[in-house]
Amino acid sequence: MKFQDNEQLNTLVQNAPIGICILDATTFKTELLNDKFIEIAGKSREEIVDRWYWEPFAEARSYFEADMSNVVKTGQAYFANEVDLMLIRHGREEKIFVTFVYAPIIDELGKVTKLAVWVMENTKQVNERRAVAADEQRLRALVTATSDVIYSLSADWEVMRELDGRGFLKNTHEPITGWRERNVHPDDIERVNAAILEAIQGKKIFQLEHQVIRADGSPGWTFSRAVPILNEQGEIMEWFGTASDITIRKEIENALRVTREQAEQQRRIYEAITSGTPDLMYVWDLDYRFTYVNSALLAMWGKTWDTAIGKGLRENGYEEWHAQMHEREIDQVRATKKPVRGEVAFPHATLGRRIYDYILIPVLNEEGEVEAVAGTTRDVTERKQWEERQAAYADELQSINEEIAASNEELATTNDELIELQRRNEAINQELENSASRLRMAITSTHLGTWEYNPQSGELYWSKECREVYGLAKDEYPTYDTFSEHIYPDDRTRVNEAIARALDPAGDGEYNLSYRIIRFDNAEVRWIKAHGNVFFDNGQAIRFIGTVLDIHELKAAEERTAKLAAIVASTDDAIISKTLESVITSWNAAAERIFGYREEEMIGESIYKLIPEEHHHEEPWILQQLTSGQRIQHFETKRRTKDGRLIDVSLTISPVRDPQGNIIGLSKIARDITEKKLDETRKNDFIGMVSHELKTPLTSLGAIIQAANTKLKNSEDNFLASAMNKANQQVKRMTTMINGFLNISRLESGKIHIDKQVFDIETLIAEVIDEASLTATTQQIRFEKRGGTEVKADRDKIGSVISNLISNAQKYSFKGTIVEVACTASNKQVIISVKDSGMGIKQEDLSKIFDRYYRVEADQTRHIAGFGIGLYLSSEIISRHNGKVWAESEPGKGSIFYFSLPLETK
Ligand code: ADP
Repeated sequence: MKFQDNEQLNTLVQNAPIGICILDATTFKTELLNDKFIEIAGKSREEIVDRWYWEPFAEARSYFEADMSNVVKTGQAYFANEVDLMLIRHGREEKIFVTFVYAPIIDELGKVTKLAVWVMENTKQVNERRAVAADEQRLRALVTATSDVIYSLSADWEVMRELDGRGFLKNTHEPITGWRERNVHPDDIERVNAAILEAIQGKKIFQLEHQVIRADGSPGWTFSRAVPILNEQGEIMEWFGTASDITIRKEIENALRVTREQAEQQRRIYEAITSGTPDLMYVWDLDYRFTYVNSALLAMWGKTWDTAIGKGLRENGYEEWHAQMHEREIDQVRATKKPVRGEVAFPHATLGRRIYDYILIPVLNEEGEVEAVAGTTRDVTERKQWEERQAAYADELQSINEEIAASNEELATTNDELIELQRRNEAINQELENSASRLRMAITSTHLGTWEYNPQSGELYWSKECREVYGLAKDEYPTYDTFSEHIYPDDRTRVNEAIARALDPAGDGEYNLSYRIIRFDNAEVRWIKAHGNVFFDNGQAIRFIGTVLDIHELKAAEERTAKLAAIVASTDDAIISKTLESVITSWNAAAERIFGYREEEMIGESIYKLIPEEHHHEEPWILQQLTSGQRIQHFETKRRTKDGRLIDVSLTISPVRDPQGNIIGLSKIARDITEKKLDETRKNDFIGMVSHELKTPLTSLGAIIQAANTKLKNSEDNFLASAMNKANQQVKRMTTMINGFLNISRLESGKIHIDKQVFDIETLIAEVIDEASLTATTQQIRFEKRGGTEVKADRDKIGSVISNLISNAQKYSFKGTIVEVACTASNKQVIISVKDSGMGIKQEDLSKIFDRYYRVEADQTRHIAGFGIGLYLSSEIISRHNGKVWAESEPGKGSIFYFSLPLETK
């Protein structure tokens, strides 16, 4: 029977899922084959069917012919499993994988008649499997190559296995429980647990930066990321993740943050200092562009920081000549590395023409090259004007002086005596002052560390605060040797010398220096300031006690800001910072010039060292003002210098805040105004003296005229009578003037008394008008009485105010005009006004005419006599009555002067 004839078998073979080929066992010719076989063979049916099997498969013959023949001989099947085979398919060589069987077909007689080849191709599966294996290998390589720790975790995160075994768990591949307690830093355990819970509940990727305890026990940071692996039911089977060591990155981040905060802090101190001054402060780079401008300068320009910084002079509104001038000076500072000082006048946006004094100084970089130019500019207009006016008064007074010049000697001797007394008094005060401030310092600066050394026994004692400064634990005590070891090596000789000097019985026992220490706890190098005193007994040092203060931040801050240092050094004002406990933390060169103390003597000291006893109460007040948000500007008070002089200072104080806005200290600008004050007193004394001297002859002159007048009453001589009358008026005017001067000096020395009584102010006004009409008849004075208004005030002084206003109205208006006086009362106050139709006052003068010695400069007023004190005195008198003085005016039309007095309800 031929296989091909069996229809059923044919169909079976044809539809089989594997390749089938039936051969004749004797000829090895192919009799039957299905499509699957043809597909695997990659050859056409015609090439195979009815041919010797090895003809189409010549390329495989040498490998399998023997095996096939053997099947016919033995009747045993031959199996080949996933063998690789080089086959020519569709004319191309291909490497394929096949599993096949050579199966014998045996007839009834037990003879092998046919041979069946069953074949299955595995190429795709084998290749896939190989790819997977390669992936796995690559993964292994990755695990070994990465520096990260790779781990797997049980579904509940309790059991961890490290895949590379070199991470936190210390070289073990063993699954470990309790890894959290061991590897997560205690500070972060809560955070880690919360994140784990969230990841498990949400079946989400776990991802967290947290602190760890590293394999060597040191603390560190890790970035950990784990992915859940879910089974088909969507339940977590395990987690697979990596953790990288980010300790260094964190340390850098931290260092960066600290630096940024310090820079910020620095900027605030800087701002506090420069914003507290009315001086203009600025820094240019070498291309003449502004790199720093303080708020006073911005305000003057009317610009904001953003629009002004990085701009050149012209862009910030400087005129060409002015810009060129500063550019030349910047070049000069750069070339010479020396400061340049100058004076310049130009119009200010709102204040008119002003005079400025400026100094430009080089900012040097580490190599000592000029990298920028810093400057401060001070408005000296007032000072200049004052100096000019001063000179003018000096001339005026000179002429009066020449006339009297007597009895000066007598005064001079008493003066000498007074000076001597004063000197002795101050010496005693100074003594008291010193001991008091020493005591106070010890009390107020309680956070200073104190120490005591016994030079005899070598024992060393440190207070709790002192040990904190050195980073020594509470229960540890230093010895002299450990103390020595913790001095920074470069500073050791200096400290040893200072100690030796202090202990030398021939010296003054003073110990005072700044040096670096190496902290006991973390070996950090820090600057401290030490201060001490040795006590001697019979030429032997028996006790050495003192204090230490950590000044590191301060030093560091100072070193960091060359710009700040340059600005602070360039100003004439003392710039001092201090803590809220009044301990001084910075002290500039001007402070040294003004107060005489050097920086080393003041850092770490109490500010009370400078404050005279009678001004001590001001410190708490200043602090309270500042904490309540108030700024202190131009507060005038007194300070004591190192050599014991009392000087007048004007203080401007601003708070220094930390980034959270809390006040952590104060920055103070002190300007020495002693000279100015002294000049004022000298002038007042002089005026007072001159006025006194003038008064005596005037009084007698007045008496003589009076007597002459009585005699002349009966005389016929009209000329003489009117001449005498005029002389009388002149004497009166002169007396008023001199009284004015005397009042001023009394006022300034606080000797003016207000003597209150109840009187009718309208009656007073009428009296003053009567008197005024007598002396000047060129204007008509009008006043309507309305029926009496009672006030409680100093009658004479209010009278002089009214008289002054009326005489001004007459002086500064023209012949034939009218002066109107009015008095209106409400239930709270009474307002008196004096109106003239005279020359009037310009707006810019209006605010100044009440200032002492201020006179309007104009052609019209030049010939009108006066000293500019009438309105000043009037306003002082009224303000001592709690009233107000003001004026309205229009140039060319006239002025109205007002004053008000509160009505006292008895
Ligand atoms: P004095 O008149 O002695 O100069 P005052 O203090 O009384 O001093 O006045 C100050 C200045 O105010 C005067 O110099 C004058 O320029 C101006 N002044 C005062 N009163 C008037 C007024 N009624 N009209 C115009 N100017 C006046």
